[in-house]
Amino acid sequence: MRMCLTSDVGGYYTGGIEKDRDQFGRKGDFITSPEISQVFGELIGIWFVAEWMSQGQPKRGVELIEVGPGRGTLMDDILRTIRNFKDMANSIDAVYMVEASKELRATQKDLLCGHDAVMKESKEGYHSQCKYSDIPIVWAETIKAIPQNPSKTPFIVAHEFFDALPIHAFQVVEVPPTQHPATASGSPRAASSNTKTTTLQWREMVVSPTPAGATHQTLGTPPSEQRDPVPEFQLTRSPAATRHALYVPESSPRYRALRSTPGALIEVCPDAALYASDFAARIGGSPRHPKARPSGAALVLDYGPADTVPANSLRGISRHRRVSPFAAPGRVDLSADVDFVAVAEAATRASDGVEVHGPVDQAAFLEAMGIRQRGEMLARRVAGPAPGAAPEPEQEQRARDIERAWKRLVDRGPDGMGKTYKALAILPENAGKRRPVGFGGDVAV
Ligand code: SAH
Repeated sequence: MRMCLTSDVGGYYTGGIEKDRDQFGRKGDFITSPEISQVFGELIGIWFVAEWMSQGQPKRGVELIEVGPGRGTLMDDILRTIRNFKDMANSIDAVYMVEASKELRATQKDLLCGHDAVMKESKEGYHSQCKYSDIPIVWAETIKAIPQNPSKTPFIVAHEFFDALPIHAFQVVEVPPTQHPATASGSPRAASSNTKTTTLQWREMVVSPTPAGATHQTLGTPPSEQRDPVPEFQLTRSPAATRHALYVPESSPRYRALRSTPGALIEVCPDAALYASDFAARIGGSPRHPKARPSGAALVLDYGPADTVPANSLRGISRHRRVSPFAAPGRVDLSADVDFVAVAEAATRASDGVEVHGPVDQAAFLEAMGIRQRGEMLARRVAGPAPGAAPEPEQEQRARDIERAWKRLVDRGPDGMGKTYKALAILPENAGKRRPVGFGGDVAV
């Protein structure tokens, strides 16, 4: 998954797709909320403003960090919104963009800094300057490259980023007593698990070549609609315990509880846990980077189950269709459901100075943030005829488009994004006394 998405030999985001194609938009492979409606990014900007106000309106030391910024649209809408709150805008020291793709870094630079702005390289990453103000914008390839300074107040956003991080998949198998457990060679622990009774063990799902002459089914498509050629690779269950199978599914009581269920499948994303831990340490401090006073916030928006461990969710996405993840490695987007509980656990384990709210459905979050009011205001503004004039059909069409777009973000039906997508917040620990806006709380100043 990592190779297919971000390897420097042509991952999906790092040069794998044709030069004249784009990942995003109608002609691309998928469309994301910030690309559907500007209201999405505006409300996220407002969420950070509300947090900044609730945390005593710090005058300096604020950092905005976005991981996986795509075309840069979300950050552009956030910055445009924060500009209306001068004191907060002035408190921002820097904007950090964590982006693996060189091509997308250039797209983001053009949008946030202007076509003519130069991008300079340094030890930290690549630098330019925001077109709205003199705020420096810094690009890094991983969040570890961004300095961790306990005096800073980081506001972090991850939209459709965690679903792109590589997963491991495992299944529980029954190992009969007569059979010497097939083990990874030389693993002392696995060898000693040879018993006289049937045992339940984890096996990793691995990628293997498709046997000659195989027919296949694209995930989620009835056999009559199979159009794609048989992929060269398939997912199979490893006959032996891989190293990962010996420790990853044992790393949390949630996975261990499933080991008693033969056939149970789980997907685990160690990278998501690393990112969540990193966010938590920046906000709440950690033994390595103690913080006198926790500050900042992280907002994770993505799709996945609210309380169960994801299973069987690895998918390929091409031209707005779900395809086999093995259809065309490097030319097809890959993603997997986000395990929100695992993200929450990793955050609270990494820092005593944080608490987690959510996940809540995207619809509930955006409605509480005022999407209806903002959407209607925007539509009225473009539809509104000049005093004394009749409305132009073109303006009326634009108003309808705006309405359709924001409503799609909160639509709870199968085609909408209101229920599948969820929001989770990591905040400074405050003994549960203050709930953030959008998660049942109100603005507190
Ligand atoms: N947030 C954007 C883009 C989502 S697509 C939006 O909602 O429109 C995923 C983004 O994450 C892309 O910008 C991709 O290049 C980036 N990305 C994927 N894997 C990454 C990784 N391991 N490290 C850094 N960036 C990554």
